[in-house]
Amino acid sequence: MPPSLSVLRLGHRRDRDKRITSHLGLTARAFGADEVILAGDRDPSALETWDSVTERFGGEFSSRFEESPMSFLRKQSKSGGTTIVHLTMYGSPWRETIPSIPIGKSALVVVGGTKVPAEVYHLADYNVSVGNQPHSEVAALAVFLNSWLGPVDNDSKFSGAKMKVVPSAKGKVVINDDEE
Ligand code: SAM
Repeated sequence: MPPSLSVLRLGHRRDRDKRITSHLGLTARAFGADEVILAGDRDPSALETWDSVTERFGGEFSSRFEESPMSFLRKQSKSGGTTIVHLTMYGSPWRETIPSIPIGKSALVVVGGTKVPAEVYHLADYNVSVGNQPHSEVAALAVFLNSWLGPVDNDSKFSGAKMKVVPSAKGKVVINDDEE
């Protein structure tokens, strides 16, 4: 796992993207990220959803809104301390590119919604495609994180959970500490 892994969601539109943005943050959390950063429209409900899931299902995942994503990205790029990975259908193939992306350094994975500013392609250390067909930021993020990081260790990543799902071939089995 990289020392710290953030996912930056560019261009959120409160009216149109609520559900997909919510799923993006949950996918980031479930597949090993430490933080989701929301940019575009200010939308406290997205942050509340992510924080509430973390509160119930454990771990240290955090969320925040970024007012100026481009200056944030420029700063990250200039500092050199964080690897910037931009997921885009125009990028280099994921299977070939992933082995070169360092694991020992903090990383920021950037995904778009509407049109991504051209500058993002230049600020990114890696522009990575998950196939060259247009699909979804959620799918791209899940495939990328799973391929880059491998499976997430549930016990270490989601400690302190109030609710824990017990894998079951049939039905739902959930341990809920609040009900004890
Ligand atoms: N034209 C866009 C692009 O550059 O990938 C597709 C827009 S799509 C609705 C929104 C986001 O999903 C993109 O900004 C990108 O982060 C992600 N995405 C979509 N298809 C992808 C693909 N094949 N590979 C990697 N990321 C993809």
